[in-house]
Amino acid sequence: MSKIKMTTPLVEMDGDEMTRIIWKYIKDELINPYVDLKTEYYDLGLEYRDQTNDQVTKDSAEAIKKYGVGVKCATITPNAQRMEEYNLHEMWKSPNGTIRAILDGTVFRAPIIIDEIKPAVRNWEKPITIARHAYGDIYKATEHRVEGKGKAELLFTAEDGTTFRETIYDFECPGVLQGSYNKDSSIKSFAHACFQYAIATKQSLWFSTKDTISKKYDQTFKFIFNDIFEANYRPQFDELGIEYFYTLIDDAIARVIRSKGGFIWACKNYDGDVMSDMVSTAFGSLAMMTSVLVSPDGNFEYEAAHGTVTRHYYKHLKGEETSTNPMATIYAWTGALNKRGELDKLPELCAFAKKLEEACITTLKQGKVTKDLVSLWEGEQKTTALNTLDFIKAIRENLDAALA
Ligand code: NAP
Ligand code: MG
Repeated sequence: MSKIKMTTPLVEMDGDEMTRIIWKYIKDELINPYVDLKTEYYDLGLEYRDQTNDQVTKDSAEAIKKYGVGVKCATITPNAQRMEEYNLHEMWKSPNGTIRAILDGTVFRAPIIIDEIKPAVRNWEKPITIARHAYGDIYKATEHRVEGKGKAELLFTAEDGTTFRETIYDFECPGVLQGSYNKDSSIKSFAHACFQYAIATKQSLWFSTKDTISKKYDQTFKFIFNDIFEANYRPQFDELGIEYFYTLIDDAIARVIRSKGGFIWACKNYDGDVMSDMVSTAFGSLAMMTSVLVSPDGNFEYEAAHGTVTRHYYKHLKGEETSTNPMATIYAWTGALNKRGELDKLPELCAFAKKLEEACITTLKQGKVTKDLVSLWEGEQKTTALNTLDFIKAIRENLDAALA
């Protein structure tokens, strides 16, 4: 069989620990034998980020802007313990944060679901996709620890010198202070990304904030979404029989829990961070959560939602067997290959990505699973917990059968 050709390189961002090991297994077993893989490789492993003063992270994000599609392995966000472990020059920022700041955009996270793993919320029948705004708010906030008495003020000086000044709080004792911001341009692109994703996936879009309390900040989000919907998307939504609906975040949570699923829930940056973990855990496992960053100028970065699975990596280093679930990382690759195929008009590449996803699902349905899924399993088929590489090889067998 001749390998499937690619025309434009994919931006490949390698990562850390157990997911770096899985990354190589996936390429060796599930991609390189079938695809004449063209990638521009960036090593975002912590050692190389440190060697390049994190320039490699910025370069990889710029490469996504150039080529349009990237696939990223999970990476370590350094903390004090990692500084010591890796003897770092600096506590480098989260690569995801750096990449999001360069690309802007919205992160869409959706669970991979199969009948044999029932969500903790019994009435959920279809996936719930979280659309997380990936810019600003507390992630770009300025904070101050107030050590004693004093007055905190909000001061804005306009270009022409006019000012807005208001007391935030007259501190009579120690406390804390935070200033956060967002930009209309970023909120607008968040809105466009959500409406377009809803249309592309034919799902209704829900959006929630706390605008009753945050009457200027959150209300700006609400108004921008509403204006953009009315000016651009209502007819297409009507045609597809899907809806856009805004509600308070408290009400949204109650409705999400009572729903059947099958919609996109757009959330501000922090809400999306928290709610995506809630949704993925309730659907089964973080290891089954896919994630894609869609930027306003139409660039795509695919990744898994989970981290580098450190505990498993330390076992792996000791020569012990691990049973780490590679599903979300495989889907990052299939998402990226499929998008490359769509953009470059390579139907064979799209078909391959679909076949690989199907082979993953077939493997699970045969009861061949990783350890994390055993306790969640409710199917008739008895499960066998395979180690990481054997699970990937089982997928390869099913892929070969499907391609034959
Ligand atoms: P994690 O890597 O997501 O793992 C947390 C726990 O979840 C694991 O110990 C494991 O549970 C389970 N788990 C996650 N993914 C799994 C998989 N694919 N298969 C099986 N089990 C899985 O989170 P963490 O331990 O908090 O963070 C580790 C490192 O990852 C940190 O350095 C952090 O900075 C980084 N991180 C990176 C990203 C990213 O790049 N997108 C995201 C989050 C965290 P058991 O141990 O019980 O088996
Ligand atoms: Mg989080």
